Amino acid sequence: MNINYICPHCNGYLSLNDCVIFSVRTAEFKVGLISLHPDLGNYTIKKHPGFEFDEGQELEFFCPICHSELDSDVHKRLARIIMIDENLNEFVVLFSRIAGEESTYKIIGETMEIFGDDSAEYIDFINLSTIF
Ligand SMILES: [Zn+2]
Repeated sequence: MNINYICPHCNGYLSLNDCVIFSVRTAEFKVGLISLHPDLGNYTIKKHPGFEFDEGQELEFFCPICHSELDSDVHKRLARIIMIDENLNEFVVLFSRIAGEESTYKIIGETMEIFGDDSAEYIDFINLSTIF
């Protein structure tokens, strides 16, 4: 399987080995790098132990390459990146910016797959939205 995640602003690869790398800022303006698991629905996070934030905190996600904010027009608490699968299909991936909240959406055209125990949280906003 060869799945890649890219930044929607600079098209740079966010994928590195078995991780997806982000630059993150907390509500208290602490900054650090975190990596998310490339399997959607796997919420394993890796980060430096010195970069601390509590569950429920709203995190801002930035591209580590071009530093653009990875925000979404659908809902202010969702981040947006692009996923390219092994057949070169391009999906929009939205995920919650709230630490510990498990909400992920994989969208292509009018087809959506949802992941995570908290995915009901934003589903209405996505269904109502036509802008990605
Ligand atoms: Zn970028």
